[in-house]
Amino acid sequence: MHRAEIGVIGGSGFYSFLDNVTEVQVDTPYGAPSDSLFLGDIAGRKVAFLPRHGRDHHLPPHRINYRANLWALRSVGVRQVLGPCAVGGLRAEYGPGTLLVPDQLVDRTKSRTQTFFDGVPRPDGAVPDVVHMTFADPYCPAGRRVAVKAARSRDWEPVDGGTLVVIEGPRFSTRAESLWHAAQGWSVVGMTGHPEAVLARELELCYTSLTLVTDLDAGAEAGEGVSHEEVLRVFASNVDRLRTVLFDTVAELPVNGERHCPCAGALGGAKTGIELP
Ligand SMILES: [Zn+2]
Repeated sequence: MHRAEIGVIGGSGFYSFLDNVTEVQVDTPYGAPSDSLFLGDIAGRKVAFLPRHGRDHHLPPHRINYRANLWALRSVGVRQVLGPCAVGGLRAEYGPGTLLVPDQLVDRTKSRTQTFFDGVPRPDGAVPDVVHMTFADPYCPAGRRVAVKAARSRDWEPVDGGTLVVIEGPRFSTRAESLWHAAQGWSVVGMTGHPEAVLARELELCYTSLTLVTDLDAGAEAGEGVSHEEVLRVFASNVDRLRTVLFDTVAELPVNGERHCPCAGALGGAKTGIELP
């Protein structure tokens, strides 16, 4: 069987050059994930890559099936997930090329299913119970430590901690929204970091976000505001070193049987009505 221990939710730029990549289609009780899983080896670790927006980038952030994505990863054995994503900087000092490993998030999304435990019967007949998950610290402390250390050892000093605010998109923020986000003391703004983080936690997966600043958000710069072309250009020019840091992080993550972070027991044995894969 095709198995993996670590998942990376990110585009083809992270796995396309690996040798011996195996494409695996996985179905879930929540429908199809964004694409096939692409399984490969990094430093002796089995990794499953999932292109968040689909391999041809056809899914906007609000139409990504986040539940199917996390469920598919868990079903092949993944217990630790790395979620690299492009973000806008909310402070002038967080310019393009900044790597920020957030320790907090603010959810400003509007239309996304945020839980597996919604009391709604699944197509397979299972009825999930209502579960209220502790989420005060949304990211895995162990994964964050490893990612920060990996970046430092490649001479890419990351911002260690900060708040990622996740907006609905697909449009970028207005100038007023951006100024408001910055005035709250939040650090970076993106469109995909949530509900990815909470759904991972509900499945007792470790989740670590690595955010790459591709632009200054509308309120933090004086020009025209964010353009998609600029985001793509800056992301492409940083993808090699982001991939290097991701792979170093993969190599140093604990093995799945030896996780000593709260994520591994996040459900605390609560009755959920559904069996995790
Ligand atoms: Zn963890």
